[in-house]
Amino acid sequence: MMGHQVEVAQLFYEFSLERHVPSGHLLRRIDRALDLSWLRAELAPFYSSTGRPSIDPELMIRMLLVGTCYGIRSERRLCDEVHLNLGYRWFCRLGLDGAVPDHSTFSKARHGRFREAEVFRRVFERVVGSCMSAGLVGGEGFAVDASVIKADASYAQRVEGPTLPPERSDPDRARRPVREYLAALDAASAQAGETTVVDGQPERLATEPAPAKALSLTDPTAAWTSKGSLKVSFAYAVNTLVDLRRAIVVDVEATPARWSEEVASTPVMIERTRRRFGLTPSRLAADSAYGSGQLVGWLMGRGIEPHVPLLDRERQTKGMLTWAEFSFDRSRDLYVCPAGHEMTTTGHVVPGGLKQYRAKPTSCGPCALKPRCTTGLARMVTRNVHEDEREHVRQLAGTPAFKKSACERRKVEMLFAHLKRNLGFRRLRLRGPTGAGDEFLLAATAQNLRRLARSLVASAPTCGPAPA
Ligand code: SF4
Repeated sequence: MMGHQVEVAQLFYEFSLERHVPSGHLLRRIDRALDLSWLRAELAPFYSSTGRPSIDPELMIRMLLVGTCYGIRSERRLCDEVHLNLGYRWFCRLGLDGAVPDHSTFSKARHGRFREAEVFRRVFERVVGSCMSAGLVGGEGFAVDASVIKADASYAQRVEGPTLPPERSDPDRARRPVREYLAALDAASAQAGETTVVDGQPERLATEPAPAKALSLTDPTAAWTSKGSLKVSFAYAVNTLVDLRRAIVVDVEATPARWSEEVASTPVMIERTRRRFGLTPSRLAADSAYGSGQLVGWLMGRGIEPHVPLLDRERQTKGMLTWAEFSFDRSRDLYVCPAGHEMTTTGHVVPGGLKQYRAKPTSCGPCALKPRCTTGLARMVTRNVHEDEREHVRQLAGTPAFKKSACERRKVEMLFAHLKRNLGFRRLRLRGPTGAGDEFLLAATAQNLRRLARSLVASAPTCGPAPA
């Protein structure tokens, strides 16, 4: 017989929000893992002692975690959902009739004081600290990778070329993402003359990107790229450093989606992890995009084994003699070509950390091997200033430890899949590198909390709702 739902009107209900939320609910598990008792004390210097009380910062963090865990990216919708959903109310400590902040006040607090106080990074680091205390972080092996997330910037709102029009370049009238872009340009031009010294030779900074082909008028820091998508668009990269024991994210950094900036963010994250948590891995797993001589040299200089396939162009020879067919004479710092002629260098290091060794045109001109060697006047070969370190990495390739790292680095890709599929991070909501950074930190915090919550459930008997 077909059932029929009858609305029963009752004057009084006996209802407990605490009992209503199931013991295995994701938010209940996360609540057990989340400790925000420190938050008010740390943020106190950023609040005035007089005036109207602000939104409780703990309420804001809890609401933002709800939004991140359930893919609710709009602040207006998040406020509505928290108002209506009993589980969200319980997690946010709002009770049945607690007032949910207005979305505009919520937004203002999030983008003002929270950003100033670096709240998202503080929360992220506290959660990583909890993961370390729970034994989820080994500190022996890290993996790094980047994934492309579209920026909140329209395809149509762009200018061709690497410069903004003058009317958009006034810092006093520009919006925050444009001001951040202009400030970064100023900082980059202040550093323009700086060099690092490698192998006794000056080496230009590795992070200098190629001029942009197009700029977004709304978020000029975002890179104009077709990476990660068939269609060219403006995008940021979420650079993620992961501990390999239980795939806990130990650091995250937002950069424009350009290869050079993704690689340059790796030392930044490794150094920050060392400073904040005292963790330095003994090996780093990454894909071949991270196989540049500069990064390999930097890692080995800090005692980190690079388990990274090298960027080698040896096989891209188009039928010409390969670099490996030229022998290097270390004592005289020169190459000897297959015809037995010396190739010398001026010692100058070009961008990319390369020294150039050239044969003499008088040697190449009459050489029988010239058709297979060069189409120019004389052959030139390059040698990375970190070639010794690169050679060490070549020896590592194929060892069991290297193969294990190659397998384990897929854990980062699984995190990216979860980020996009489950947390809905296909397009950013916030603009500018700061907005992207805030979103990535929140997502990494939510991912770590889920893992921490799972480990706590596994290691302790389940505690159900408190008795009424
Ligand atoms: S072309 Fe020049 S560099 Fe090449 S093998 Fe002949 S002499 Fe040597």
